[in-house]
Amino acid sequence: MVELKNVDVQYKDRGVDALNDVNIRINDGEFVFIVGDSGAGKSTLLRLLTHEILPTRGRVFVNGYNLTKLKKGKVPKFRRSLGMIFQDFRLIPNMTVFENVAFVLRVTDKSKKFIRQRVPYVLNLVRLADKAKAYPSQLSGGERQRVGIARAFATDPGLIIADEPTGNIDPRLSYEIVELLMDINKCGATVIMVTHEHDLVQYFGGRIINLKNGNVVFDDFIGGKGDEME
Ligand code: ADP
Repeated sequence: MVELKNVDVQYKDRGVDALNDVNIRINDGEFVFIVGDSGAGKSTLLRLLTHEILPTRGRVFVNGYNLTKLKKGKVPKFRRSLGMIFQDFRLIPNMTVFENVAFVLRVTDKSKKFIRQRVPYVLNLVRLADKAKAYPSQLSGGERQRVGIARAFATDPGLIIADEPTGNIDPRLSYEIVELLMDINKCGATVIMVTHEHDLVQYFGGRIINLKNGNVVFDDFIGGKGDEME
């Protein structure tokens, strides 16, 4: 569960209100798009959810942790309850696809046996089983992001945060990326996807949170155009 209660964020040096009395509740298992123009506060919201910054006012709860009171020693455990997907993929170039995914499991001390089973399972989910031995440089942008999705889901996190995951890939393949995120969501992870691609959001529909100048100006469900077209 993700909950922001009366959250303000002010960046002191600039004196701007990046977020203004924001109240959001996202239940386990939801898929939510966060949209808004540049400067609306999307990155600030994500930085709150990952505990990179604290709110100036209000409270933030993620995966059962009260982030406004989180002790330093508990930060690593909290972070492991998140799966992150980035616009620029952030894969390790000198590791194969398999190794990129296995790496996040190794650092959390998973057994070799578990890794041998889990990595093929998640690569299969993103339909990349045949690329396990390839290096990131040998993959298309869409394929790299599919590795990013597999890696984020490998640790079975409660919450996956995708920050403009389609920003660096061919627009035609953006739909596939969102569909994969929806598959992962059906496997049990809550997904929050930040995007400024209005076409995508209109196509898929679902719960949309729209930020404008640090305010939530829309938080509701819309029907997807994709449904009508089927
Ligand atoms: P978005 O991700 O929607 O583009 P941001 O959260 O990055 O929006 O920014 C919201 C507001 O906060 C903007 O006015 C931006 O200039 C300001 N801002 C963002 N990060 C910082 C920072 N580190 N220091 C000062 N101001 C910031």
